[in-house]
Amino acid sequence: MESKVKSNIERVRSAIGGAALRAGRKDSNVRLMAVTKTVDDDRIMEAIEAGIDIIGESYVQEAKRKIEKMGRTIEWHMIGYLQSNKAKYAVKLFDMIHSVGRMDLAVELDRRAAAADLVTKILIEVNTSCEKTKSGVPYTEAMQLVKDVSALNNLSIQGLMTMAPWFDDPEDARPYFASLRELRDRIIDENVNRVEMRELSMGMSGDYEVAVEEGATILRVGRSIFGERPIAK
Ligand SMILES: *Cc1c(COP(=O)(O)O)cnc(C)c1O
Repeated sequence: MESKVKSNIERVRSAIGGAALRAGRKDSNVRLMAVTKTVDDDRIMEAIEAGIDIIGESYVQEAKRKIEKMGRTIEWHMIGYLQSNKAKYAVKLFDMIHSVGRMDLAVELDRRAAAADLVTKILIEVNTSCEKTKSGVPYTEAMQLVKDVSALNNLSIQGLMTMAPWFDDPEDARPYFASLRELRDRIIDENVNRVEMRELSMGMSGDYEVAVEEGATILRVGRSIFGERPIAK
């Protein structure tokens, strides 16, 4: 059966190019992550062959198996909810952890990174929508969390991550992306020691073009590359 992975990636890349052009940005400043939860190995390999160089995983166990099989010529990023008791594995497996939204998790990641003699790159996950079902630090507490986490020597904050609520019209996601960018700019103005604000991880299949227009540097795209996921049991 002919797979659509490669042509899907080409289509997404050209839409990214269009959005970057509209926003006066270079599309080389926007990286496309392939989000692979529930995706079988063959299609992940196809995505890598089509030039994808970041894979986004949601589960530590699943990621471990895939990394052992597919290797580290590409980057593996953790984007899912992370329990503190998985921190030990996460620091060894992932090139970047996008889902750090709590101090207790940051402290545990730092402790485990120190034990493994690593400095782990992380993003602070921000709940920009105030929806209770969304993870991430509440927007109004994010600045303080950045400052607190910046004191942990074995973590390196690279930027911010958010997930907009689901909308039929992607235009409705724009204010959430804009608010993450504004927060990033305020953090830059504060000049917090050891904090880099180079990455804005935002935009998924439904809204990545708007995210590019609002300054995203990493897009987390699953369904537009691999097709719809099976409905979770
Ligand atoms: C599943 C997931 C995505 C990708 O969503 P799609 O709609 O498949 O593009 C992005 N970010 C996170 C955190 C996810 O869990």
